Amino acid sequence: MNLYRKGFLSLLTVLAVAACSPAVEEKNQQQDQAFQPVASEVALEAHLEFLASDLLEGRDTGTRGHEIASAYIVSQFKELGLEPAGNDGYYQRVPFRTATLVADSPKFIVHNGRKNISLPYLEAFTASPSTFAEKLEVTAPLVFVGYGMVSDKFGFDDYAGLDVDGAIVVMLSGRPDGLPSEAAAHLGRIKTELAIERGAVGIITLHTPKQEEVRPFAVMRRYAADARRMTWLTPEGEAHGDEGQLRGGAFLHYEAAAHLFENVELELADIWQQIDANEMPKGVALGVSATLAKQSVFGALDSPNVMAKLSGGHNTLRNEVVLYTAHSDHLGPVNNTEGELKFNNGAMDNAAGVAVMLETARMFVEAAKNGDHPDRTIMFAAVTAEERGLLGADYFAHYPTVPIENIVANVNLDMPVLLYNFADVVAFGAEHSSLGAVVAEAAELHGIKRSPDPMPEQAIFTRSDHYALVKKGIPAVFLMTGFESQNEGEDGGEVWGEFFAKHYHRHSDEISTLTEQYGGIRYDAGAVFTNINYDIGRMIANGNAVRPTWLPDSYFGQVFAGDENSIRH
Ligand SMILES: [Zn+2]
Repeated sequence: MNLYRKGFLSLLTVLAVAACSPAVEEKNQQQDQAFQPVASEVALEAHLEFLASDLLEGRDTGTRGHEIASAYIVSQFKELGLEPAGNDGYYQRVPFRTATLVADSPKFIVHNGRKNISLPYLEAFTASPSTFAEKLEVTAPLVFVGYGMVSDKFGFDDYAGLDVDGAIVVMLSGRPDGLPSEAAAHLGRIKTELAIERGAVGIITLHTPKQEEVRPFAVMRRYAADARRMTWLTPEGEAHGDEGQLRGGAFLHYEAAAHLFENVELELADIWQQIDANEMPKGVALGVSATLAKQSVFGALDSPNVMAKLSGGHNTLRNEVVLYTAHSDHLGPVNNTEGELKFNNGAMDNAAGVAVMLETARMFVEAAKNGDHPDRTIMFAAVTAEERGLLGADYFAHYPTVPIENIVANVNLDMPVLLYNFADVVAFGAEHSSLGAVVAEAAELHGIKRSPDPMPEQAIFTRSDHYALVKKGIPAVFLMTGFESQNEGEDGGEVWGEFFAKHYHRHSDEISTLTEQYGGIRYDAGAVFTNINYDIGRMIANGNAVRPTWLPDSYFGQVFAGDENSIRH
């Protein structure tokens, strides 16, 4: 995957000279030409060093460290002269509820008409805390619903012919292979919504032998039992969403599942076989019922999104907004294997993305001061609780501080891996909207090409903040450093892959460790990345009055750009 781009360095030199050297007089002679600001490596370094320092203790949502990070960002916005764009100055406070499970409270009893079988917690099943009710208990009939997936577009309905109103549904974990990965990820995420829409009162997710190979039950049960769940609260203090209808839930080991299928002809072995053959097992009422119970403890906290804007210069287009987003939170403290306290400083995830956004903001201000004012308004949002489920961005999407229909595009920045001299970028979302062409053009300006997604199975398009805005119909793009390098002997894909395997979401995603392992953060690559992201926003902001549009064959355009109140599949 190594590619030494011949001639690239000389092109870069020309660009740098062209961009840096003109004296003021020269610039005045070129009024018709766009002023091209250049990202500062030192500025990126300064922002990243502050945001990823131990003093911020991992920037977890609701902590003092994250508040300090937010205050720093606000301070930068102010210094740049950007206008406040929150609902309390630069701030938009997001109220959250946290929920943790009372240890050993979960119960799972199967009633098969002959006897009651109590399944052992953590051995046969696990459960996660509820953000809707501290005490939950339900007894209801069980209905097997296959994967529990529905798609008009791909022509399947696992609920066809089944009545699950008032029932606990039993669904297979995972999803069938063979669907386009991003659409499949989305369809997997709405399984709960679909069950609720059909009247289910509980969900039992069935682990499968196939899933065991990728995500062993032993790992998942620890994760579920220890997890702290979070949700944002409406102004009325209600937990967001309609999951309150669910009075029970459990994650069941496939070996314990036999108890559920005792009263039907269906053999579990056949189901596993169908899964392996990539078929979608058909659902059936199981003729047994179950009692599910658990207790959770609630907590409350609030945490800010911080936002600023540079108003557009065009009479009418200034009402439209190009929105940059970057999450400012990360994972907080953690004990390492020796039991020492460490901080998840998130140097790449996402101090780097915030640094790029702040520098992008400075570039827009510099360009405006030099007569190149964007037509549309540019807005910058450092959002909270991304790591807790894109919650800050989702809150903003529900309570936007500008009319949501005026947001023409979202450019998201999350975890640019600035550890090698990348020669290409991957643009998630590019193939779904007219933004793809913009990205290609912006990257080309800096001698960088656009490559296809090298790991579609990760479905990254559904895994960061822009997804909350895509769900509101807003075209979005999210750049990642590609797998090719400009340096001979450097394999970008290898560096990226190693970072992802060894440092992503670990405390070693910090400046000192990354410097030890990779010889330093590549702020020069960061500057190129920033220049491209600046130009993407600049082109969208000017764009000859044409709003970015979804492409007619885009799955996301088709499911989200229509009526906002239906479940999309
Ligand atoms: Zn992350």
